[in-house]
Amino acid sequence: MRSQIKLGKIFGIEVGLHYSWFLIALLIAFSLVAQFHATNPAWGEGVIAAVAVATAVLFFVCLLLHELAHSLVATANGLPVKEITLFALGGVSQIERNPSSAKLEFWMAFVGPLTSAVIGGLCLLGVHLIGTAALVPGVAMLEWLGYINVMLAVFNLIPGYPLDGGRVLRAIIWWKTGNAEGSTKSAARVGQMVAFLFIAFGIYRFFMGAGFGGLWIAFIGWFLLQAARESYLQAGLTHALEGVKVEDVMSRDCAMVEGWLNLQNFVEQELLRTGQRCFIVVEQGEVKGLVTPHEIRTVDRAKWPYTTLQEVMRPIEEVRSVAPGTTLASALQLMSRNDLNQLPVVSHGHLEGVLSRAQVVSYLQTRMEFNSGNGHGPGH
Ligand SMILES: [Zn+2]
Repeated sequence: MRSQIKLGKIFGIEVGLHYSWFLIALLIAFSLVAQFHATNPAWGEGVIAAVAVATAVLFFVCLLLHELAHSLVATANGLPVKEITLFALGGVSQIERNPSSAKLEFWMAFVGPLTSAVIGGLCLLGVHLIGTAALVPGVAMLEWLGYINVMLAVFNLIPGYPLDGGRVLRAIIWWKTGNAEGSTKSAARVGQMVAFLFIAFGIYRFFMGAGFGGLWIAFIGWFLLQAARESYLQAGLTHALEGVKVEDVMSRDCAMVEGWLNLQNFVEQELLRTGQRCFIVVEQGEVKGLVTPHEIRTVDRAKWPYTTLQEVMRPIEEVRSVAPGTTLASALQLMSRNDLNQLPVVSHGHLEGVLSRAQVVSYLQTRMEFNSGNGHGPGH
C-alpha cells in the first residue's frame, strides 16, 4: 500500500493518501449528511453539508493520530517508519523493520487502539459535560467522533493478524514461547479464522437484508484473509532464507562493458545479444558504474548513437552495494525498500558479483522443488 498523494511530513514521517481513500471519504460524508438530515432536520442544507465534511475531515485526523501513535513508538525504539498511508479501510504505518522484542511489538500495536479509545472517551466526555439536549452542530460532531473512535479501538483489537489485536496476540505468543517466527504463523492462522468469520457473517447479514452493510463486512473479511495469508507466507519466506548469504546466490560472471561504448552499439551488441540485465561499466580495467535496461530507456532512441554508457551509467559510488557475507534476507529488504532490481556485491572495494531479484526468485523455486525441510542454504 503506497501513497499516491503526498500530504507532507509530521514528526519527520511522510503522510499520504491512497486513491481508494477518496471513495471512503465520500461515503462517510454522504452517510453523515443522511444522518444529520434525519436527526437534526432543523439545520439548513448548507449547515448539514458543512458539518458532514468537517466531521469526515476530523475522522481522518483521528485515524492519523492512531497511526502516528504506532509510528512514534516505532521511531522512539529505533525502527524507521517510511510513511503513513490513509486508504479505504483506514491507515497503515510502513514500519521498515520488525520489532526486536515481544514487549516492543506489544506496545507498538497496543498504542494505536489505546489512542483511538482515549480520543473517543474524551469526545463522549465532552458531549456528556455539554449535554446532548443542546443539538448544536459541534455536539453532534463530537458525539459521532466519540462513537466512531471507540468502535475503531474495538475493531482494531480483534485478534486477526495483521490487525493491531492480532499483533498484540502475536506479541503474547512470542513472549510465552520465545519463538518469533512460530508466533507469526500462529497469529496468522487465528487471523485467517477471524477473516472467515467476517466473510460468513457478512454474507449472512447480506441475505438477511442488510444489503451493502453485509457486503462491506464480507469485503473487510476478504481483505483480512489476504493480509493474514501474506503474513503467513512472509514468515515462511524469512525461515526459508535463514542462513543463506548473498554469495550463495549472486552471479559471479557479470558482463563487463567499456564506458566509451555508445548506447546504440551497446544495445545491439551486448544487451540484445546476451539477454543479460546488468552490466558493469569499466574504464581501463577499473569498475566505474552499473548499467541496466532502465538507464537506457531514459534516453531518447534518436540520441543513442551520440550517448556513451559513461554518461548514463549509475556511478559505483552512488550504487547501494552489499558485502558477500550479508544475509540474503537483509539484501532482499534493502532491494525492496529502495526499489532496486540489482545489487552489486562488493568486498574490500572489489566487485565480486551482482545479486538480482530474478536470481533470488529462481533460487527460491529450486529450494521449493527440492525442499529438504531443514531450511538451510547450500554450504551450510
Ligand atoms: Zn492500528
